[in-house]
Amino acid sequence: MPTLLEVEAQAATCTRCRLATGRTQVVFAMGNPSADLMFVGEGPGAEEDRQGLPFVGRSGQLLDRLMFEEMGITRESCYIANVIKCRPPGNRDPMPDEIEACSPYLQAQLDLVDPTVVVTLGNFSSRLLLGTTEGIRRLRGRSYPYRRGQLVPTYHPAAALRGGAEVVAEMRADLVRAKRLLAAQHAP
Ligand code: URA
Repeated sequence: MPTLLEVEAQAATCTRCRLATGRTQVVFAMGNPSADLMFVGEGPGAEEDRQGLPFVGRSGQLLDRLMFEEMGITRESCYIANVIKCRPPGNRDPMPDEIEACSPYLQAQLDLVDPTVVVTLGNFSSRLLLGTTEGIRRLRGRSYPYRRGQLVPTYHPAAALRGGAEVVAEMRADLVRAKRLLAAQHAP
């Protein structure tokens, strides 16, 4: 198995899909590569494309806040990645062939980080990792057996920014669920 650094180096020059032409840089991931908890978002936006780091724009600020308030953690203690590693033009949705082209990178990240709890943010990551076409509204509110642990689907923070108090409250509840699952795994 390659190391995460080797996979990252490979991704940095990736030309597997059309998004290679429009990106400033590949946004691979950030955080603790041996974390028990991994967040999976959709794909880089403008700020992420500029900085080369995931969730550093407005969505990321909300994610940081909710992570801290509901789980008592900062982003350095978990691992954060996206379904696609390059910014789509104009922040459009990722296309199915782009998701497919990029999925070996995410699969390698899941294999190498090997988290016990995965929190998927929004439709794209939730559908991809759960292998369903169901929407996040129906998927969220429970956890699913996943790899050697559990997957907790929740809203994308951008949807929470748009959706107001009710969506934020549901997202908070999902993060509390993830925290409990993590704690249960550490219980004697
Ligand atoms: N939205 C995402 O899905 N991922 C990011 O990294 C930033 C915004």
